[in-house]
Amino acid sequence: FPAFSIKGLTKVYGEGPAAVHALRGVDLEIPAGELVVLLGPSGSGKSTLLNIIGGLDRGTKGAVFFQDQDMSAMTDRALTRYRRDYVGFVFQFYNLMPSLTAYENVALVTEIARSPMDPNDALGLVGLGNRADHFPSQLSGGEQQRVAIARAVAKKPTVLFCDEPTGALDSATGRSVLKVLKNINEELKTTVLIVTHAAATADMADRVIHFADGGIREVVENKTKRNPE
Ligand code: ADP
Ligand code: ADP
Repeated sequence: FPAFSIKGLTKVYGEGPAAVHALRGVDLEIPAGELVVLLGPSGSGKSTLLNIIGGLDRGTKGAVFFQDQDMSAMTDRALTRYRRDYVGFVFQFYNLMPSLTAYENVALVTEIARSPMDPNDALGLVGLGNRADHFPSQLSGGEQQRVAIARAVAKKPTVLFCDEPTGALDSATGRSVLKVLKNINEELKTTVLIVTHAAATADMADRVIHFADGGIREVVENKTKRNPE
């Protein structure tokens, strides 16, 4: 199965004359194991799409399949389980607990996960093995984002959703964070979906989905990046 199959997905916020059509019939397949970038201007509906396939919100019409499961048929409890067991989230602002160390921030998640990694292994994976005892205030922005990535992958999610993960970082630091995401995609075979308005993010993607005004304009596959093994 693909990671996601999306058919005719629409999302309308509000109703009547004030209604906002955030998604206007999206058809999309996201193959398992790829690193996919969803690129488009602010307000084009990217976060809305990510929130729906991430199980944080529901569409208005259309179908979303996660592997072979119809997400619109899932109960709220099933969606909560889906988020807990299969999905990692990374946001623009790292949302770390300031009073906890890097290790403890990651351990918050591994304590309730089904088959987690050791927090130290997760921190090692993002290159922060030597920062486990540091508090967020003692870390740079890029390091804090890497702790947030370690926290998201420590539960070994099937999919990792990243909403503007480099939005608060300078371009060099942003690139190093993207390399960490690429490394996770390759090492753990995690499907990674990055939502962004920053075109530079697209360089290392297997597939770039150009989004505008609630719909897909173009899908560009980067075949050279995938190793036929
Ligand atoms: P993007 O992530 O590409 O910036 P969004 O998905 O956040 O776009 O927003 C798409 C459109 O939906 C925008 O016009 C936005 O104002 C609107 N929108 C997003 N969330 C809500 C909401 N909760 N209520 C009403 N309108 C919303
Ligand atoms: P935007 O893309 O509009 O700048 P954000 O990236 O801040 O918005 O958030 C995208 C969506 O994810 C929002 O709908 C928000 O409610 C949700 N979100 C943000 N942070 C968290 C969080 N820590 N846990 C769950 N949902 C969150």
